[in-house]
This record gives sequence, structure tokens and C-alpha cells, in this order.
Amino acid sequence: MIHLHDLTVKRFREGLENKEFSAYEIVKALFDYIGLRDKEIDAYLTLNRDDALERAAKIDVAIAEGRDLPPLAGVPLAIKDNMLIEGLPATAGSKILEHYISAYDATVIKKLKAAGAIFLGKTNLDEFAMGSSTENSAFKVTKNPHDLTRVPGGSSGGSAAAVASHMAVAALGSDTGGSIREPAAFCGVVGLKPTYGAVSRYGLIAMASSLDQIGPFTKTVEDAAVIFKQIAGYDPNDATSAPDITYGDNLLNPSLEGIRELTIGVPEEYFVPGMDEEVANAVQSAVKEFESLKVRVKKISLPHTKHALSVYYIIMPAEVSTNLSRFDGIRYGDRAKAENLLDLYYRDRGLGFGSEPKRRIILGTFVLSAGYYDAYYAKAQKVRALIKKDFDEAFKEVDVILTPVAPTPAFKIGEKTDDPLQMYLSDICTITVNLAGLPGISIPVNGREGKLPIGFQLIGKPWHEADILGLGMFYERLGGKR
Ligand code: GLN
Repeated sequence: MIHLHDLTVKRFREGLENKEFSAYEIVKALFDYIGLRDKEIDAYLTLNRDDALERAAKIDVAIAEGRDLPPLAGVPLAIKDNMLIEGLPATAGSKILEHYISAYDATVIKKLKAAGAIFLGKTNLDEFAMGSSTENSAFKVTKNPHDLTRVPGGSSGGSAAAVASHMAVAALGSDTGGSIREPAAFCGVVGLKPTYGAVSRYGLIAMASSLDQIGPFTKTVEDAAVIFKQIAGYDPNDATSAPDITYGDNLLNPSLEGIRELTIGVPEEYFVPGMDEEVANAVQSAVKEFESLKVRVKKISLPHTKHALSVYYIIMPAEVSTNLSRFDGIRYGDRAKAENLLDLYYRDRGLGFGSEPKRRIILGTFVLSAGYYDAYYAKAQKVRALIKKDFDEAFKEVDVILTPVAPTPAFKIGEKTDDPLQMYLSDICTITVNLAGLPGISIPVNGREGKLPIGFQLIGKPWHEADILGLGMFYERLGGKR
């Protein structure tokens, strides 16, 4: 039978069709492997064993009967625990939702179910997706499969680690300021954050609604395109979902001539002072490989980049403070015994939330309060527009922008937990993309076998996922991966 290490979405499909293995065998093998390996990685919070095996058996019956298979028939996926799968817990990594059971399927889950996918379980994350290391989870710390003393990145660290350690063929994460791309880079897998509005957020526990997007973690860029195509599309249940966008098969079949018509811009502002030299060099090596593919590369400037972190840490907490008001022990969350209503709020929220959500709720309430609103929130919105304008200007000259994903490779567990500002700096290369609503992909730099993975980021024009996926597919072929 095939080795789990070699299993991609594409390879899984081929194997099923050629009857090399059954869906049941693979799903069973994955659970056996998770039973061993997840003892040291701690990627999963909940396993969905019985349901997954039952669905796999049904796929095998469909194959035996010669029925047409849906596009992701039997593909075993891991799902970040801030997305709802009916009947399963959705903790968002928080004690306040420890006993919450999802009442319905998120739209992405509905779409994946219709496409035949199987859910292995729910993965660990920083509480309410707030963090860059998965150390803020109320339940456990996920380890980086490449070095167990290091973080997997965050906030979707469980999903990234599950794919990197072959405990899932692919996974879903959510990205508000980098939470798909940074853990993908730290774990050496591919992570795609789609254009804002491309993938429905219905059934995703909201962190900051104007920034959140769901996207895939995969072992190859090609797989990212396959999963993205299934989860993208209009959803009337999400008011910010784009009504007129459809993605065609060009997502899956880029041509070399096509990508040679693209120009890549490399912004000087993203090679920040203090950036690890190895990261800067690795990213430059990716630039050279694109040049060797005869793709044009030029230097560009995105002058307002330096304000991105400040803007993000005003807008994001403002949205967090309103989104998290629903967790009060009455509408959602565990209810404590209390004397009166105020006491109930104090207890439920005081005991239920960890320190990172509390910090952000307080910050967000402050920047939205009368008297400070104009000075902070309104001003941040204006600077957000300038950051977006930088990209609009750059995209007049280039088609795609290439940057690092994070200033360092995966750091040690505990290294940044006492210093939230240091932790916030890990997102310096990714948050602009959320502020501007653009698609971005993190791709592992070739040739780092035996070393800590490093990722580079390709940023596309809105709705131009095909450009970044196409370039990525040709890049990974240079690495000889597939
Ligand atoms: N690390 C960033 C934060 O803590 C981004 C989180 C995310 O993308 N969900 O806000």
C-alpha cells in the first residue's frame, strides 16, 4: 500500500481509481497513525473516527458499484476547530466553548461534504484564532513536526502540523492576519488565503469579520487549487460573499507560456530590519528560480507597509470586541452560577476567556469608545485605505508580488509568550494582504530538506488566485516534488 507520506489529494484520487487501495484502508491507516504520532504533535482536539470510517466505506461501495465519484471522494481532511461541523464540538480553542456542539454545517463543510470529502477531526488553534504560535490554545500546545521544541506557527497550527506530519491529506484553516500562511511556512506546507469574499465565512466563528477568510493547507500547490475550487463560490448566508465570481478550470491547469506573461514585483519594504538572514536568502533564492523560469521580476515599493501592524492592531481588536460579545454564557458559552446578571457576565467571561482575547476585547472597546473613536479607529480605517492603494498602484506595474511570509523560521516554544509585541511582529509580512482583501499563498522554499522550513509568499490581484497558484505550481516542479 502507498506510504502516507506520499499521499496528496491528487495521488489519493489516482490510487482510488486504480484500486491500489480503498478509502476505508487509508482512513483506517490515518487513524492508526494519528494514535501514535499525535501523542507528540498534539494537532487534534477532537477525532471523528466512526463517522469518517463510515463515510469511507460508503465511498468504497460507490466505487464497487461503478458510480461517478464526486471530485474529493474519500479525501481525508482536518478542520480547524473554529469551523462548524454539525454534531461535533467547535471550541475555537477556548474554555468558554469547551462544551459547545455545532448545530449546523459551515458552508465550506457543506460544500466539502457534497464533494465527497471525509473529516478526520478538528484541530488545535490559538484561542479564537488570536496568535501566531498555537500557544494561546486553552487546551494544549501543538508542536512543529520538524522540531518538537518549536511552535508550528498559528493560529491554525493544528491544521498545518497535521498536514506536515501526514496525519491528514489536507486541512482547512482561517486567516485574519496570517494564520494560514505563517503556520504553513513554519511547517513546510502550502497555505492559501483567498481573496476576501471568495470563500463563505458562514459557520466560521468570527474573529475580525472584515479580515477573516477560510483557506486550505496542502502538501502541494496543485492540491491547494483543487480544494480552493471546491470551497469557493457565492453564499447568500454570507453578506460579504462575492456574487459574480466563478473560478474556472484554469486554476488547475496553468501553462508555462501563461505564467511567463506575468511580472513579479519584489517590495523592498518587506525585507525588514531584523529579518533573519537565512529567511532573506531563501526568499531571494525563490526569486532567482522564477527568473530561471523566464518570469520577469522587478523591484517595487509599497510605502505604507510600515503602518500595517498599527492599523491591524486597532481594526482587528475593534471587530473582536464586538464579535466576542455574544459569548456571555446566555447566548453562547458555559454558564456559571451567579448572584445576578452582572455577576453572571463577570464570571462567564472572566473564567471563560484566556488572557489574549481579554487583552484584545479591552483594546477594541477602548478604540471604539466615544472620544477615542476618531483618534484611533477612524484614522486606522483611513490608513487601511492607503495600504490598499499602495497595492492598487503596484498592480498597475506588476501582476504578482513576492515577499517573505515571516521574519524568522519557527521559533522555540515559550520564546515569545511573555512578550505579546514580539509575537505580533511575526505577522508583519502577512497582515497587509488581509487589510487589502487580497489573495496570498505561502509556498515552502525548495531545497530545505533536513533544515527548518522557510516559506515565501505570492500575493495576487483580487480574484486572481490563478496567477499565484500557477506560478506556485511551476516553482514546486523545479523543486522536483511533483
Ligand atoms: N497572528 C495574528 C493575530 O494574532 C493573525 C491571526 C489570524 O490570522 N487569525 O491576530
